[in-house]
Amino acid sequence: MENTENQKNGLRARMKAERAALSPDEVTLKSAVICNRLSSVLRGKKFVMAYCALFNEVNVDSLMRVLISEGIGVAVPVTEKETSVITPSEITSLSDIKRGAYGIREPINVSEVPLSEIDAVLVPGLAFDEGGMRMGFGKGCYDRFLENYKGLKIGVCYEFQLIDAVPFDKHDVPMDMIVTESGTYAV
Ligand code: ADP
Ligand code: MG
Repeated sequence: MENTENQKNGLRARMKAERAALSPDEVTLKSAVICNRLSSVLRGKKFVMAYCALFNEVNVDSLMRVLISEGIGVAVPVTEKETSVITPSEITSLSDIKRGAYGIREPINVSEVPLSEIDAVLVPGLAFDEGGMRMGFGKGCYDRFLENYKGLKIGVCYEFQLIDAVPFDKHDVPMDMIVTESGTYAV
């Protein structure tokens, strides 16, 4: 159907507002639980693409530290402004990440990791549903990035962002698993 776009935009506004209302303590506590769950899920993986949390997104910094200390490769996305194309870039320490233009956290130097080497991608989002459908900020960056990705796709969000049904289009790429502070859900 045409116009999932309007439905998506209404939901984006609601989810952004609800997430912005979380206190710093709530973000910290819920993120810690989510990082623990993810750490179990990712045991035995060789290379994981995580992300640099923005605003009140689930913060996975502590997980990235743990993965690096366990010898698991970690990449974070570098997004080209003009095209919204995502490139996974390896980090070997959290100090490889700095705040750049618009306060966006990205690695200082880009060290591209081939998609074929990544065995799990952590995907942040504004809303997810039990079928694994995801809604992001509305640029479709992850849909394009994940189009040809064959590994494990893990949606990462707070429990309140897990809703009955996310409106979706043909180009939307579903997750294989969703992790919140309340559960680890296989799709
Ligand atoms: P988000 O996933 O960030 O919530 P949407 O799914 O609404 O955003 O997608 C935003 C825009 O990106 C849409 O207009 C869509 O046409 C475009 N888009 C997404 N994925 C692709 C793709 N694989 N190829 C071409 N355009 C895409
Ligand atoms: Mg989408």
